[in-house]
Formats: sequence, structure tokens, C-alpha cells
Amino acid sequence: MADSNNPLNLDYICVISPHEQKSNLEAVRQQAKAIQASAEAQNKLVTILQTQISLPKAVQKYYTSENVVLNKHTNWFVPCYPQQNPCLVCHYFGHNSETCPNIPYTAYNKCVRCWQLGHNFQSCQSSKVRPPFKNNFFYPNELLNRIF
Ligand SMILES: [Zn+2]
Ligand SMILES: [Zn+2]
Repeated sequence: MADSNNPLNLDYICVISPHEQKSNLEAVRQQAKAIQASAEAQNKLVTILQTQISLPKAVQKYYTSENVVLNKHTNWFVPCYPQQNPCLVCHYFGHNSETCPNIPYTAYNKCVRCWQLGHNFQSCQSSKVRPPFKNNFFYPNELLNRIF
């Protein structure tokens, strides 16, 4: 006996006797219709759910200089752990001038005023020059203007 849960089984349709054929085919047709209606209802539900559930947007990253991402923990607009004062060099929060990600590490031991070696900014006699920022550096206000 063919599986009655599988009304579309062709073997089942072929082995039934001629006088049973009409009613059996009608039953098969009804079952197929019911299955189709159920599938359509499910597809409709899936479509509705797909329009209601929106996938989370990819997080937009902003960079304060080349390959240096704006980051709430190490390179941010407002005071944050671990550094409560802005970096003397780049004016972002979350790090200090000795660990500033916006200048190359080779500048870490230089005077943060004139960017020469051999003294620090407290004893600096030279005039202030722009720090040797990495490419595409933006001060916080410049980056904010770009974002908003
Ligand atoms: Zn900095
Ligand atoms: Zn200096």
C-alpha cells in the first residue's frame, strides 16, 4: 500500500483500479490543494516576517587618522577610561601623548611642542609646530564636522 501521507506518489495513482480511480484522484487532488494552500500560507508568513525583522546594520567605523579607528576605549571624543584628560597631541580621550595612536610610535619620546628630541614640552624654547600626525588625521572637531 502506498503511503497515504504522500498523495503525489505516482505509483499509488497508477495501481488503483479504474472504478476507484475517480474518487481516489479527487481525494489526491484535494490533498494536493490543501498542501499547496498550506505552503502558500507559510510563504506569506515568511515574507511578512522578513519585512518585519530587519538585520542589524553593519557598524560604521570612523577613523581619526589612517588605520586609527575612533574607539570609545582608546581614542574618543569625551573623557573615558583609562585617560580622563585629552591627549595633548591629538585632543582625543582614552590615551595620552606617550601612547597616542594618531602619531607614529617613533615620535613618542619627542617634545610634544616642537617635535625635536632631547627635551620635553615644559622646558621647550622652540615654537609650537603641528604634530607629525599619521595621514588623514582629523582633530575631534574636524571629524565631528565630517560625521554630522
Ligand atoms: Zn593622541
Ligand atoms: Zn620642544
